[in-house]
Parts: sequence; C-alpha cells; structure tokens
Amino acid sequence: MFGATGSVGQSAVDLIARDLDSYDVVALTGGRNIAKLASDAIALRANLAVTCYPDCYDELKDALSGTGIAVAAGDTAIAEAATHHVDWALSAIIGSAGLVPGMTALEHGTTLALANKESLVTAGPLLMARAKAAGATILPVDSEHSAVFQALVGEDMAAVERVIITASGGAFRDWPKDQLATATLAQASSHPNWDMGQRITIDSASMFNKAMELIETKEFFGVPSSMIEVLVHRESLIHAMVGFNDGALMAHVGPPDMRHAIGYALHWPDRKHLPVERLDLAKIGSLTFEAPDEDRYPALALARFVMETGGLAGAVFNAAKERALDGFIAGDIGFLQMSAVVAGTLDKMSSGDGLQLRDMTLDSVLEADRLARIYAGEIMKKLG
Ligand code: NDP
Ligand code: MG
Repeated sequence: MFGATGSVGQSAVDLIARDLDSYDVVALTGGRNIAKLASDAIALRANLAVTCYPDCYDELKDALSGTGIAVAAGDTAIAEAATHHVDWALSAIIGSAGLVPGMTALEHGTTLALANKESLVTAGPLLMARAKAAGATILPVDSEHSAVFQALVGEDMAAVERVIITASGGAFRDWPKDQLATATLAQASSHPNWDMGQRITIDSASMFNKAMELIETKEFFGVPSSMIEVLVHRESLIHAMVGFNDGALMAHVGPPDMRHAIGYALHWPDRKHLPVERLDLAKIGSLTFEAPDEDRYPALALARFVMETGGLAGAVFNAAKERALDGFIAGDIGFLQMSAVVAGTLDKMSSGDGLQLRDMTLDSVLEADRLARIYAGEIMKKLG
C-alpha cells in the first residue's frame, strides 16, 4: 500500500484492518508520519515498512525494532517495494512521486488501485500502455472515476455519448468572485463535503482538482475532451454520470466516503459489504445541479488546453500546479495567482520544442516535470 499514512491510505487501512484474516499485507509506505506508519505496519502484520525520507530511517527502525518487520527508506526503496509479486496494490502517494511506484507495480503485473491522479495526468498514455503490455489491470479509486467505471460495467464504450463528472464547488462556491483574490490558506483548506488531505482540499477550492479529473477521465477511459463535462453538484452524492446514445444517463449515487471507491477496487469484480453510510434519499429530499462558471475557475479551461494538446502538456500542467500550490501554502502567492502560474508555465513551455513534438517516455515526463517546476518558480518570483 503506497501512501498508507495519508487520507486515502488510512481509509484503506481501515477496510483491511476490519477483515485482516482475509489479507496478507506485504508492504506499507509513508513519508514523515513514522508513528502512524509503524503502528499500522504492526496492526496489519505487514512484512515491510518504507518511508520515502532517508532521514526518517532511524526513527522507523527504532519504532519497529523487535517486530520482525523489515524497514527501508528513500524513493528507490519505495519503487523496490512495488516489485514484490502481489495481487493488489494501492497507489495513494500524493503528487508526481506516485508515478514511478505505480508504473513499477504494473510492470510486475500487479492490479493497481489508482488514487494518485497525478500519474494519469502526467503520463496517462505511458501508464495505460504499461498496464496493457504487462496484462495488468488499473482500477480507478478517485471517486468520480470509480463511479464512471461502475456505470460502464457491461456497457459498450461505442454507445457512450458523454461522461459527466460532478464537483462540489469547493470552499468558495458561495463567495463573490471579486473576493477570491483575498482567500487565505485556512479558508481554502476547509472542504464543505469531503474530509481529505490539505493539498487536494485546496485544489477543490480552485477547481484544479476537477481539472485534473477531466484529464484523468480522458486518459483512463479514452474519451475526448468534447465528450467530458463538469457539473456542479453541491451535495456530492452523485459522483459521475455516463450518457449513452439512447439518451439514458446512468448515475452513480453514494455517500461522500472514499471507503466506497477503495472497497470497490479492493473487491472488484465482486461487490462485498462495506461500512459506509446507506443514503436515505427521502430525508435528503433534493439534489441540485449547476453549470460551472468557467470564468471563476480558470483551471477548467487550462485542463481543456492540456487535453487538446496532449503529449507532455499534462506533465507540465501538473508540475506547475504542484509548485504553485507549494507557493500558495508558503504564502508566496495569492489564491488566484495559482492559475496564472500554471497558464504562464504552459505558455512558456509550448514555445520552442513544444509539448507535442517530444516522445513520451518516463524520462521525457520527468524532464518536463523538472523544467516546469523551474519555470513556475520563476513566474512566482515575478508575481510575488
Ligand atoms: P495525503 O497528503 O493525505 O497523503 C499522501 C501520502 O503520500 C502519505 O502517506 C504521505 O506520507 C505520502 N507521501 C507524501 N509525499 C511523498 C513522496 N514524495 N514520496 C512518497 N510518499 C509520499 O494525500 P491524499 O490521501 O489526500 O491523496 C493521495 C492521492 O489520492 C493524491 O493523488 C490525491 O489527489 C488522490 N485522491 C485523494 C482523495 C482524498 O479523498 N483524499 C480522493 C481522490 C483522489 P506522510 O503523510 O507520512 O508524510
Ligand atoms: Mg475525485
């Protein structure tokens, strides 16, 4: 389980801990939360615990001494953990650091439950090709994509006319547009419906999260930008809908609890009992839908540009977004400047060699990621 100490990882730990005798847990990975990594490795009887930070090695070693659980540290050790022959792995690292472990697991034929959206955004074609070549399955865990996946069971993709992913609207959905520039870190870090990690919560407020999900939809399901829509749905109960050529819309309705999508991927192709709320729709009464205001959320137009450009545009978009988000968290730039940084970086990297002309390989993706972070940093300095 990659990223076991995070928000998605902890939901997966919860599901596995409830039925421990059915699983043989090989490895858990985390970052700085060593106490959690160690206690979960013990609770889930894992063989191996890995932190991505070499300077955390001693602390992890001490925490697990006498348990018989092997310990390792560093990015290479995380990638090595993906080489174990296992049936199922969860990719729940945050950021583009999730790409290499996910690719490695696929290469080894492991079924990959994919929460790490950055993998599909930065290197979707590469990831899908890797899975195909190895005969490995990717199961989407992002709730919208799990919903689309479930709505497509038994269906023919040729009959699909459109895919609609819903958005809660995030923390600022009721703010006047002219106040968004003043949004603080604390205000952007609180989500009206979902309890998630801080970075994805801020991305929900800016709609960068939905922008990433548009790109994920294109890459995973192989549908063009023109067939994918975003719909603001405040209640976050319908996660996605698929529209077919006979006019039918299949909607996936469920509580906003990641354990549903994780559990679906864990038990797929079966369905098994999950400890999530059962919705009482009569009590809920009504569901609401609004078209997104594209002016308010420039991230959506940037995602359309990325989907239409293809190639390395996704890697540049993601890296610039991660850098801009670091800048917002550090107080270097304002809330609205995040999209300006991403737009500026895409613009800068579209000239010269361009984004489309280069072959997509892991190296070219990592190089585009590296350069985009440098350019985004330069743009931030000018803005700040
Ligand atoms: P969190 O920030 O809560 O957790 C991230 C996990 O990755 C932690 O285990 C963290 O370790 C670890 N980690 C951080 N940096 C690195 C690194 N450089 N190398 C290896 N491991 C690292 O994130 P979330 O759980 O919110 O999100 C995980 C992924 O799932 C993201 O891609 C996100 O977009 C996606 N996602 C999340 C949803 C949610 O509900 N949260 C919903 C849908 C998708 P530590 O904390 O110990 O430092
Ligand atoms: Mg989502």
